[in-house]
Amino acid sequence: MTAVILALGGNLGDREANIRSAVESLKGHKAISKVKLSPLVESYAVTLDGIDESKPKFLNAVISLETSLSAKELLAFAQQIETAQGRVRLMRWDSRTLDIDIITFGSTLKATKNLTLPHPRAYERAFVLVPWMLLDPEAVLPGHGSVAKLAADLRDQVVVIE
Ligand code: ATP
Ligand code: CA
Ligand code: CA
Repeated sequence: MTAVILALGGNLGDREANIRSAVESLKGHKAISKVKLSPLVESYAVTLDGIDESKPKFLNAVISLETSLSAKELLAFAQQIETAQGRVRLMRWDSRTLDIDIITFGSTLKATKNLTLPHPRAYERAFVLVPWMLLDPEAVLPGHGSVAKLAADLRDQVVVIE
């Protein structure tokens, strides 16, 4: 079994229902166990040009789980959930109903065309680090160190919902 951190988020539709429905889908997979959802956090949309207050706000969370799937299989399942929830792939970083990224997959370090682990931008994202720190204060992001320390500097970029 591999311990995994996923990041989920979206800014269209019923954002909380989309996240909770993804949790149920993950719990329903026979090769996935110990699914735990972090508190939810809200933040402004970030585009390639920076913060865009005119776009609907994002609701994000992280999930910890254990799985016997490979990282590739887990990514395929996550993309299946995204599609089932009505995500249409438009532009990268654009508004979407639900995005699921693999943040860490055990201690795996890899960079291929379709999968980079750990997620290369996780270390600078408040909407990943803050909920992750709340879920697990001891968490470590391989290559970057303590998640709580990384999150401390970015704490004011998100509002913790619950
Ligand atoms: P970002 O990766 O900056 O968060 P995004 O989530 O908006 O951007 P997507 O359009 O959802 O980007 O994904 C683009 C591709 O990224 C996916 O098709 C997938 O193959 C690839 N990818 C690479 N590494 C990962 C990862 N760790 N988790 C999820 N997808 C990844
Ligand atoms: Ca993403
Ligand atoms: Ca993604």
